[in-house]
Amino acid sequence: MEISKTIEELLYYCHTHLYLDENDFDFYRNYLMHDLKIKKPYFGQIDKKQISNMEVVDHLFDQLVSYLINDLKYDMDDALHHAFELLGHLTPRPSEVNKRFNELLKIDSKKATDYFYNLSVHSNYVQKTKIDKNIVIKSKIDNHELIVTINLSKPEKSNKDIVKMTQSKIKQESYPLCVICKENVGTYTEYKNSLRIINLALNNQHWFMQYSPYGYFDQHLIVVSDKHIPMSVEKNNLLALLDYIDLFPHYFIGANADLPIVGGSILQHEHFQGGSHCLPILDAKTKIVLNNNFHKDIEVSILDWPTTAFCLKGTNKNSLIELANKFLTTWKNHDDEILKIVSKDHNTMTVIVDKIKDEYRMFIILRNNNCTLEFSDGIFHVRPSLMHIKKEGIGLIEAGGLFVLPPRLKRQLELVEFIACNPKKYEEILTANTDLIPFKQMIDEFLQNKYHSIDEYLIWACNEILKDIDVFKYDDEKHSHLYQFINLLNL
Ligand SMILES: [Zn+2]
Repeated sequence: MEISKTIEELLYYCHTHLYLDENDFDFYRNYLMHDLKIKKPYFGQIDKKQISNMEVVDHLFDQLVSYLINDLKYDMDDALHHAFELLGHLTPRPSEVNKRFNELLKIDSKKATDYFYNLSVHSNYVQKTKIDKNIVIKSKIDNHELIVTINLSKPEKSNKDIVKMTQSKIKQESYPLCVICKENVGTYTEYKNSLRIINLALNNQHWFMQYSPYGYFDQHLIVVSDKHIPMSVEKNNLLALLDYIDLFPHYFIGANADLPIVGGSILQHEHFQGGSHCLPILDAKTKIVLNNNFHKDIEVSILDWPTTAFCLKGTNKNSLIELANKFLTTWKNHDDEILKIVSKDHNTMTVIVDKIKDEYRMFIILRNNNCTLEFSDGIFHVRPSLMHIKKEGIGLIEAGGLFVLPPRLKRQLELVEFIACNPKKYEEILTANTDLIPFKQMIDEFLQNKYHSIDEYLIWACNEILKDIDVFKYDDEKHSHLYQFINLLNL
């Protein structure tokens, strides 16, 4: 490998993938030569066609890292940081990205997001190669589809970790205040040199969007308030969701619940999550259409979904918001002693929005995060016997039917499969891998042929988890408790 050749290839890559103007080649070549301590540029030919066809920068990035380690004697960590830093300098500046995005937005919003997503992949901010390695299983169960992914780059956080993060006081001198604050753009920590954000005005407030570096699904994005304020589910944010979907109707967008256990992992900074139209709940069938006398322009239905979920559908934004707000305020004050629903400080909801032609669809899932001595991780949370699969809070992505499972499962499930094929090794493997003890019931069921494959088990387990988070799951009197709540809505 000749680093001067890599520089030429990198310049051409940035020209074809990151909008680097050829008039700036000399300027950036000199910058890279100085930074990488070389005296002479490369005078030979480079394979332009091959570079134009590159989907990701990995090959050139790896060459930079090797050179930094072998020739400039960086350690691995510093070399990675430095390679990301160089790429950050070669990525267009935030103002240029916003300008181009807004020009495209005037023509076609999908063209604008395609431009921004591709830029985020090509600049190595979105780690596409790692994302593509994730394991994805799709299957039908009952009357709907579920998607299960094992995300190989996402660290696992327990509910207790998330509560601790939320309660820990931010030091005033912390900069940025958290990992999704606006000031992270181009920061040198956590490989965010090439992070770019798009400024948006939603419900007359300043927000911005960016793609997730380790996305859980296609074009996974977050939409973040430009203020570091805590998550809250309230009318203003529902309006912001609808404003977002007006701008980008080819995506879905959702607000996580604003409490631990039932919300996402970053509760201290207001944000939404969205992306390509892939959440199974968006294709759920209607179970019952409810009478609705006051907002006749909105159809209200209960979905055929393992967790009680409502769908509000219509073209009138104001009616939709009024009705959604009625669900919110009624639910926030709804107690049900028999079902163990204590509303104060515990009732909230998960909201997901999309738009088909002119019609908005708002999916509402009622949530409660109360814990008791008997249910110390949450009454409406994953049952203990399934926590070996998922113990983290069940946020909007999972509640919408796309499960993101921790990387440890890859190894653990391979061992389970091995035991299922080699039952004589059961004790030996379990003794050597104590983290498999919570899998004993699962292994026994495999040995009894209750499940035919790991995929079948995972789909079953995730479907059961959706039943576990249902606030009306103890409602065995023909939905009487659910209808008590529906009656209070005075539809
Ligand atoms: Zn923040």
